[in-house]
Amino acid sequence: MIIGSHVHFGETQLLGSLEEALSYGANAFMLYTGAPQNTMRSKIKMEYVEEALAKMKDEGLSIDNVICHAPYIINLANKEKIDSWNFSIGFLNQEIKRCEELGIKYIVLHPGSSVKHTLEEGLNNIIEALNLIVKDDSKCMIILETMAGKGSECGKTIEEIKTILEGVKSSNIGVCLDTCHLNDAGYDMSDFDTFLTNFDTLIGLDRIKCLHINDSKNPLESHKDRHANIGYGTLGFENILKIINHEKLKDVPKILETPYISSSDDEKTLVYPPYKFEIAMIKKGEFNHHMLEDIREFYK
Ligand code: FE
Ligand code: FE
Ligand code: ZN
Repeated sequence: MIIGSHVHFGETQLLGSLEEALSYGANAFMLYTGAPQNTMRSKIKMEYVEEALAKMKDEGLSIDNVICHAPYIINLANKEKIDSWNFSIGFLNQEIKRCEELGIKYIVLHPGSSVKHTLEEGLNNIIEALNLIVKDDSKCMIILETMAGKGSECGKTIEEIKTILEGVKSSNIGVCLDTCHLNDAGYDMSDFDTFLTNFDTLIGLDRIKCLHINDSKNPLESHKDRHANIGYGTLGFENILKIINHEKLKDVPKILETPYISSSDDEKTLVYPPYKFEIAMIKKGEFNHHMLEDIREFYK
């Protein structure tokens, strides 16, 4: 089982991210190279990269299972303000360069929101941008995330993802499935086999390079995109476990992006990471009904 979570990218960069992942019992992880909401980025420090890579070797954690996530502010679908569209392209190119410095092979990208454009125009804008970015010889592959379809988000159906992939001249581009987003987009995750067969027919399973494993706070086809802790949402523990353990996706890294936990029921601020406990529960294959209490006890 290749499983991990979203982790921080702080002072010690890749090394710190690795240490955080290991503290959760993970053998994979995902990071943003800076705040997901802005474009402030610190320079990559090679001493930390080297130390991290050496430690990964010791720990048996492959760099193939380390994923980067591009910031949300990148929007390749909206060309209304050409400067913003060009900025998104430039910033994504820089992020890819940073990944290459870090040795990271995959960067997850939200395809974008069409805003005032039609869906078709939005998809065309994404294709046009990706054709300026994706290179056959790039060491870091862009992987498009399936979206919940909140607002004008593009990439909420397999067909939309297929349209983008077909429009991009290079085949050096993959897909990231997000289980919460798929549910919210209208794909029933309790029948994952049907979904996979459909995906295989339209796109091909070999394109799937990462799975975002999240439960959902909302019902099927709600187009909301609010993640829930594993087993504490619409999908449920057993359905999620089946997806994680699916034979056809066994080599694909599974990344948790589930919400942090508050210190008590009447506290709103989310302070404790759930990942150590969710990973343990998944590995054990048994739902933990008192996970919230266990997490609070552990971190208090
Ligand atoms: Fe995402
Ligand atoms: Fe996601
Ligand atoms: Zn989401």
